[in-house]
Amino acid sequence: MPPPTPICPKCGYDQSGTIATWTDRCPLQGTCPECGYTLSWPDVANPSRIHHRWFVEHATSKRQLLRRTLPTLWFLLFPNRYWHRVTMETPRSTKRNFLWLILLFATFHILTTGALVAGNYATHRSSNAVHTKSMSMAPPQQKKQIASRIVDLSSSDYWVPTIGDALLLPLIHHSLYQERYAEGAAIISTACLGVSIMWYILFCVFQTTRKRTKLRMIHVARAVIVAGSLPFLLIEAARLIEAVQLLSNFNPTPFRVVSNTLPFLIMIVSVWMMVWTQWFWITASRIGWQIKAKWWELVLVTTASFLGMPIAGLIMLAFKPVRAAVEHFAYWFGI
Ligand SMILES: [Zn+2]
Repeated sequence: MPPPTPICPKCGYDQSGTIATWTDRCPLQGTCPECGYTLSWPDVANPSRIHHRWFVEHATSKRQLLRRTLPTLWFLLFPNRYWHRVTMETPRSTKRNFLWLILLFATFHILTTGALVAGNYATHRSSNAVHTKSMSMAPPQQKKQIASRIVDLSSSDYWVPTIGDALLLPLIHHSLYQERYAEGAAIISTACLGVSIMWYILFCVFQTTRKRTKLRMIHVARAVIVAGSLPFLLIEAARLIEAVQLLSNFNPTPFRVVSNTLPFLIMIVSVWMMVWTQWFWITASRIGWQIKAKWWELVLVTTASFLGMPIAGLIMLAFKPVRAAVEHFAYWFGI
């Protein structure tokens, strides 16, 4: 099999011509004549030599994917660190990235579903105890009325809707979940996605930006996948808060202390998500993709990216029929 054509990782320009001019020595660094990107020749010639032991996209098994989750999230938490390491020469795997995101969200969702079910069970158990106690002291004519308020925690009539509700929050809402944190988190996460989509539009759709940056669209598309999906972890955090709020009804300490501080924490994390999204894109442009933009140009693009908010509104509007369909099917399943 012939060796792959050496191309500039930023713009895709064929570097065979430059390499052919080398006669007596091979330089380690060079500049792409098309886009001006500083190339590391050994990495361009053989990208597979770059392997990050912490990076999920370089994992070769599901166990490695699991082990590399925390280090990857740690580097992503500070996007400048992430982009210093994930250079454009770094081999990427969209398939592994998708698999990682699916496993990450599924794991968090199962954990928070468990917490919500525990919160729901704890609330009903404690109210059952109160009703049983008051029934023993109530006059005979009221006993039947109080007994009807006691929930049978061993019946499937209780467990099916409880597990279904917990799985589908915030797609469907149950009267037990009062705080609506998860719905608020969904709005903020979608707003972050809208901002990321706007960055993509600003980079790829406008001819002038495309000509100036000479950036392959695949780099921007990958950034949308990462920056657009991770803020949705906020929904899982909010679901956990709903669960802690419920558990605090049942056992005031330690859950009450935690439940008093968590709403404040989620507010800070929400603001952080928006800041993080912008930070991710600015560092992607400057560090990852080496776009030599002036500071005021970056300020202008960052400001323009907030035009992604109406896009977020459209996504939410388009999601309404999906939500209605889920509610319909949930009702059909007895949830
Ligand atoms: Zn180039």
